Amino acid sequence: MAKPDRLIYLALGGAGEIGMNAYLYGYGPAGSERFILVDLGVTFPTMENAPGVDLIMADIAWIQARADRLDGIFITHAHEDHVGALGLLHARLKAPVYARRFTAAIAQNKMERAGQDPSLVRQAAVWPQRVQAGPFSVGFVPVAHSIPECSSLLIETPAGRILHTADFKTDVDPVVGEAFDAELFRSVGDLGIRAMTCDSTNVFSPQPGRSESGLGGPLQELIASAEGMVVATTFASNVARLKTLAEAGRAAGREVIVLGRAMNTMLKTARTAEVLKSFPPTLDPLDAESVPRHRLLVLATGSQGERR
Ligand SMILES: [Zn+2]
Repeated sequence: MAKPDRLIYLALGGAGEIGMNAYLYGYGPAGSERFILVDLGVTFPTMENAPGVDLIMADIAWIQARADRLDGIFITHAHEDHVGALGLLHARLKAPVYARRFTAAIAQNKMERAGQDPSLVRQAAVWPQRVQAGPFSVGFVPVAHSIPECSSLLIETPAGRILHTADFKTDVDPVVGEAFDAELFRSVGDLGIRAMTCDSTNVFSPQPGRSESGLGGPLQELIASAEGMVVATTFASNVARLKTLAEAGRAAGREVIVLGRAMNTMLKTARTAEVLKSFPPTLDPLDAESVPRHRLLVLATGSQGERR
């Protein structure tokens, strides 16, 4: 007798932990399901738990052994814990990669830097457009987060719809990127959702998150009250926060310097992908000597604000 089709979910990493997100969805008869992979990220080790280790990634051996049944890799957003392992692991999986414009540009950069073919990353349009991958039809539903162009995925399968939320923030004025749109999610919900997979950072916090748009004033006051040079650090990919900081710095009478590869790459990509429409003028680091220290704001970072 033919085996019945089944829908399966397997978290290779990321569920119940921060970092190395990698989620498999499968559909088909047991043992011959077709798969999609959602995200392929890294975890940054700490000096306490893994001294000398640069990056930690999910163990993909299980899906590597079934790579001929992997129909696509979908990247929800460009945080390192969602896309950081793509370049390093893609050669073992080979499936086409789908992401929206800004995320795709970051993903292509990851592929290139790892010596992989960046054209395997394809740009996807937003919901209600869908990408067909085996038995799955996947829509990118825009959602606010601390990086531009984050998307929840609406995954349609013959066994029903799954809403994979990805990280999200219900910010209706995020400064850069799309606002949280309750109506959009209501309309998606009205279609009927079989299961929602949700593992956003701080999702169990009972407090509402503050909107990015409310931070400019307090940051300007803080920068203006500082006596010497101010150095601010954050996730390089938090383009909205960089903009908020730079604007606050300018309003406080300071020149703004952007230091570090990750931060410069993110700002350049955000401009190219047209998610960042404006950014205050910045000063070339080589010209910083001519400016008194109390007139400087330096934006400096590791790519996820890590210590090294
Ligand atoms: Zn994230």
